[in-house]
Amino acid sequence: MSEYLLQQTLSKDAKLSGKTLVWGKKTSVKLRPAPVGQGGRFVRTDLNDCVIDVDHKNITKAWRCSKLENKNGSVSIVEHALAAMSVLNIDNYDIEIDGGEMLTFDGSAKPFAEAIMKAGIETQDKPRTFLKILRPVGVDLQDGRKMELLPTEDNNLSVNFNIDFPHIPVIGKQQANYIHSYDTRPINMPDIVRARTFGTHGDKMMRLKWLQSLGLKTMYDRFWEYGLIYDSKSAYPINNTDLHFDNECALHKALDAVGDLALSGYPIIAQLNCEKTSHHITHMLLKKLFAVEQNFCLGHLRKSKNSTKITFVGI
Ligand SMILES: [Zn+2]
Repeated sequence: MSEYLLQQTLSKDAKLSGKTLVWGKKTSVKLRPAPVGQGGRFVRTDLNDCVIDVDHKNITKAWRCSKLENKNGSVSIVEHALAAMSVLNIDNYDIEIDGGEMLTFDGSAKPFAEAIMKAGIETQDKPRTFLKILRPVGVDLQDGRKMELLPTEDNNLSVNFNIDFPHIPVIGKQQANYIHSYDTRPINMPDIVRARTFGTHGDKMMRLKWLQSLGLKTMYDRFWEYGLIYDSKSAYPINNTDLHFDNECALHKALDAVGDLALSGYPIIAQLNCEKTSHHITHMLLKKLFAVEQNFCLGHLRKSKNSTKITFVGI
């Protein structure tokens, strides 16, 4: 058994708290260990019986984020916590939350990844089940926005993300690559978790009057405090000059894509290429992926005893 890459969970609970981005509600979140084979779940502790599996079937419509919903309730802005679980190879977990909006902190996945690393990661006694892409699956909106999952022989997840903001020259064209190897347990947090979310001045999300009309002034204030806000003239974000990366915007989009792919319910073996895409397009891609069984197969990754080679074994 030990030759297979095994499932993992947290060693103990990790607690986080703060105010949410959109509604400014004080919220507590607990990341908790879960039994082997369970997968990821959100548990609304403020509602009766509200357990929502991290599953593409529970994706529901949301504005600029990923939201999971079943008949008992919903949780929005799930992508950053899920990205942290993915990059740290956590298969089984519960995310307990006493509200419907996940915390966003500085707009990155770092607080979640730090909390997981601090709690510790435990190996469980069953192989991880991977989803391997067997043939190309793509969504092309014919306006420059497209996304595709391609088969790869490398037994990893490789993400390429291109963005283009011609009206915001300081962002302009940016590119980010992230290769997630399933073979190693990260000793340090992967850099990608530090990439923060961003907005552009003049964007609907940044229009104070519009947000006020929706009762969302706190969102405006919080975004100014933490996110990166760009305008068409400045050489840096207008509210924040300490960029973590030159390509932080593209890297954050890659982080979002990693978090959204976790909604498949599996670690994915594929090459993911994204051109100017958003959460909504990743959701469409997942729908397309699961619509045809021949698009993928499930299996384990086996390590050869005397070499570094890992092999995919279908189940
Ligand atoms: Zn994001």
